[in-house]
Amino acid sequence: MSDHPQTLLITLTGKDRPGVTSTLFSTLAAYGGAVLDIEQIVLRRRLVLGVLVTAPRDPKALRKAVERVAGELDMHVEVESGTGDNRSRGGGRSHVTVLGMPLKAKAVAAIAGRIADVGANIDRIERMARYPVTAIELHVSGADPDSLRLILAEEAAVQEVDVAVQPANLLRHGMRLVVMDVDSTLVQGEVIEMLAEHAGCLDDVARVTEAAMRGELDFEQSLRERVALLKGLEASALDRVYDDIVLSPGARTMVRTLKRLGYRFAIVSGGFSQVTDRIAADLGIDFAAANDLEVVDGRLTGRIVGDVVDRAGKAAALRRFAEQAGVTTAATVAIGDGANDLDMLSAAGLGIAFNAKPVVQKAADTSVNVPYLDAIMYLLGISREEVEAADAEAGYTTPSPPV
Ligand SMILES: [Mg+2]
Repeated sequence: MSDHPQTLLITLTGKDRPGVTSTLFSTLAAYGGAVLDIEQIVLRRRLVLGVLVTAPRDPKALRKAVERVAGELDMHVEVESGTGDNRSRGGGRSHVTVLGMPLKAKAVAAIAGRIADVGANIDRIERMARYPVTAIELHVSGADPDSLRLILAEEAAVQEVDVAVQPANLLRHGMRLVVMDVDSTLVQGEVIEMLAEHAGCLDDVARVTEAAMRGELDFEQSLRERVALLKGLEASALDRVYDDIVLSPGARTMVRTLKRLGYRFAIVSGGFSQVTDRIAADLGIDFAAANDLEVVDGRLTGRIVGDVVDRAGKAAALRRFAEQAGVTTAATVAIGDGANDLDMLSAAGLGIAFNAKPVVQKAADTSVNVPYLDAIMYLLGISREEVEAADAEAGYTTPSPPV
């Protein structure tokens, strides 16, 4: 066989029914030849099947046979002669994940337009999830992932969708440790504000928290100030706050699914270990770092025991946990929303700003602004279908989409 043999591209489209693929291949089998490539998809019972085969001695006879079979199946077929395999894909390959709720055609048009503008090619598109978020993954070649990320981040903001660009390499399959912030990331709201409500100083604390998360205040100093306001609060308030905590939607699904795949989890929080350790135990999280509130005679003293877990402390905890888990920092995913997560997000292999402050969204590798934590799995190449299948096997039921 020469380097560039004559080949035929057969594209069969029409209403799907059992046995289409086997019927087509039985016909091809009679002519010998080798299958060089094959892609098949079904969208709402409509089948598109593309097969690239080496041409037989008598291509015309094969073409006739294939057309006859397509007629019998009531399908449409095109047979195109050419040479060799597919054109090789360009360098600079990326996975581009687009999340929308809903995902509008206008947004897809804009994203695809920007990809075309830089001369890159979309080689494949597949759906990762349909509900409650629509997620699609584009396999793109011919553009440097870092420059593509900048261009698509701008368009994502205009279109109000999330777009994540990751280099297409083996590393994505090797992610092994997920490090999560707690307040407003793993759980809804801020634990310190829930405590402040019990202590009757919510307004004062909330004002400082908001400024700290925007990066306007030194985190340690602002935390110590806020904790001082809690002085005298009964320690039992910590239990009541724990009982009131609501996890972010999709948190349990994400942890459960990724643990099945052997991922380890860590929580790293500028909040309080009295609460975060219980969350870690509840979810089966392997590592946890947070601040220890000092309790004397059943009441908070308004002080923190030991060092404060601040912005630098969070990044240090990520490195420490990665080492304890026996993985490189390149194999870590960090998720956070506040300015004190910035160092941790940049230390990780993949830093995800989750419904984050603008300063964090700008700095992170990627932003997720849908309110579902499990949407992060789509960025790791795991589809909702796979998650649901695994859940069904384990006896969990997942809510069905409305349409
Ligand atoms: Mg947070």
